[in-house]
Amino acid sequence: MIVFDRVSKVYPGGNTALKNVSLHIKKGEFVFVLGHSGAGKSTFLKLILREEKATSGRVYVNGKDLTRMKEREVPYLRRNMGVVFQDFRLIPSMTAYENVAFAMRVTNIPEKKIASRVPYVFSLVGLSEKMDKYPDELSGGEQQRVALARALVHSPQLIIADEPTGNIDPELSLEMMELLSAINSVGITVVVVTHEHELARHFSKRVITIDHGSVIGDSQTHREEEVGEVIL
Ligand code: ADP
Repeated sequence: MIVFDRVSKVYPGGNTALKNVSLHIKKGEFVFVLGHSGAGKSTFLKLILREEKATSGRVYVNGKDLTRMKEREVPYLRRNMGVVFQDFRLIPSMTAYENVAFAMRVTNIPEKKIASRVPYVFSLVGLSEKMDKYPDELSGGEQQRVALARALVHSPQLIIADEPTGNIDPELSLEMMELLSAINSVGITVVVVTHEHELARHFSKRVITIDHGSVIGDSQTHREEEVGEVIL
């Protein structure tokens, strides 16, 4: 699903964010990417999303070499992954429903499909009752679930949660992790990026630890078999 083959990233100005990183995240895995601030976690995400290009080495997502991918192919790549950003990135002037519907409209999905899909993804995240609320009428945890609903809207094979505990209470982070586990249990690959050791330790999942741009630990407790195609 995600392969890094001796990847280095040096930003203009000479900052080395990743050094010779090799790793393999298989389809259906649930992985924590753990590291202190400045370790290279955001750079790792940006390379997967092709927001940045590797300086050397190769990055593959779903068998596609991102280092060679053409710009016009990038939107299709991103449609296969759902990202839940730390700051949720909801549009304040739109209701929760509209925020999720908007993500479908921009990809020209017919209104009829939107009208059936949006309530479905809200039911998956347990927020059906609050679809008509605006973001500022929702708690942090609820906003995060709207962001997760939006991330699920295109039936992605991969969900990435960037610092999911950053803007919510500890109890809510546990809820979020349970939701992500449920999503993972239907075969969707989940990558959680965090600086919180406790969070990563709490669950018996694979933990890839990055420090100063290098992988310094990989618990490799991932499942052996790959999970079949997902119908979500
Ligand atoms: P993390 O997300 O773990 O905090 P980052 O990937 O943001 O780490 O950063 C890793 C290193 O790369 C840091 O030293 C940071 O200063 C540097 N860096 C990140 N983005 C840029 C950029 N756009 N230009 C220059 N240096 C950067």
